[in-house]
Amino acid sequence: MNNPPKKPHILFLFSDTGGGHRAACEAILEALKLEFGESVTTEMVDFLKDYAPPPYNHLPEFYPEMVRVPELWGVGFHISDGRRQARLMTSTLWPIVRRAARRLVREHLSDMLVSVHPLANSFLLKALGKNRPPFITVVTDMVSTHALWFDQRADLILVPTEIARQRAIEYTMLPEKVRVVGQPVSESCSAPPGDKIILRDGLNWPQDKKIVLLIGGGEGMGPLAETARAIDKSGLDVGLVIVTGRNARLKAQLQAETWENQTFLYGFTHDMPCFMRAADVLVSKAGPGTIAEALNAALPIILYAKLPGQEDGNVSFVEHVGAGIWAPEPLQVVRTLTRWVCRPGERDRVVENCRRAARPQAARTIARILGEQVGL
Ligand code: UDP
Repeated sequence: MNNPPKKPHILFLFSDTGGGHRAACEAILEALKLEFGESVTTEMVDFLKDYAPPPYNHLPEFYPEMVRVPELWGVGFHISDGRRQARLMTSTLWPIVRRAARRLVREHLSDMLVSVHPLANSFLLKALGKNRPPFITVVTDMVSTHALWFDQRADLILVPTEIARQRAIEYTMLPEKVRVVGQPVSESCSAPPGDKIILRDGLNWPQDKKIVLLIGGGEGMGPLAETARAIDKSGLDVGLVIVTGRNARLKAQLQAETWENQTFLYGFTHDMPCFMRAADVLVSKAGPGTIAEALNAALPIILYAKLPGQEDGNVSFVEHVGAGIWAPEPLQVVRTLTRWVCRPGERDRVVENCRRAARPQAARTIARILGEQVGL
């Protein structure tokens, strides 16, 4: 009897520095399952936590602390960004990470590797050597993409926006290796906006008020508390939904406060697609995942914070497509919110712009490209 043909196995390289890399990775895995069912097997490896030598293996834990001083993070980003700097960084760190990178490759044999993290590319490509399976990078930053995303040895680079494609080419990637696919988000975040009344019923949110959803990324970052308080004290009659993500300290702090408006406080939630479809305005840090999900939910965006460097371009992208406003001061947030709540026509125009800018098919498109590469 013939053995059944071996299923292709795809290895995904990610790390939990922020919530976005894991979210993008899981979205692609989900899309692969929907497109190809059981004909492909997949595996996710947190290459920093599980393989990098100390202290680099603690980066996922330290990340929320590191980005708590955004200005410092921004300086680090800009100093290290550029072809020459990226090469220097890779060659300096290579002797330190070489053994770990080679062990990862040995322990996780695959028919294709997919990186969704800028730090995985050069080290893993170097560890893999010449006779290797295809290596594909899925860039999860929208516009201000760091040079470490782009290694000429990669077989394909999938990027979220045309600007990111231009940047890849500036960083000497061959144009034919770079494709614009959009930002991958989960199937539930790609679905069309649903019925707000039903959704709010399920969540016990009021039907008779505009709902403002506040999120600081997966880690509850930026001046989320100050911004929420300013909205609450503004005299606007709105419902406040505050999501603190994994920032338990912030949740406890906000829970102890008294709120004038009806306020709903959540820690890390898996109901984000539902929240976005039930809300009227998003007030958020400029994380790429959150922005892409909001566009799919046709939810106007006020950006109250960004990580200097990698999230700068996200802000200009949102403003350029007319899907939202950059409002770094709580008072500016309140001003925009007041306009959108009091003049529905203005908010409706932004809703339309969100719809136009959305790329809900991104994860499915990526899955189909990966499928092609492994012969499915
Ligand atoms: N997220 C979530 N639940 C939460 C907070 C955030 O599922 O309670 C998700 C959010 O929907 C998005 C991701 O975490 O998919 C955050 O990614 P983003 O790129 O916006 O920001 P990061 O956390 O990486 O800075």
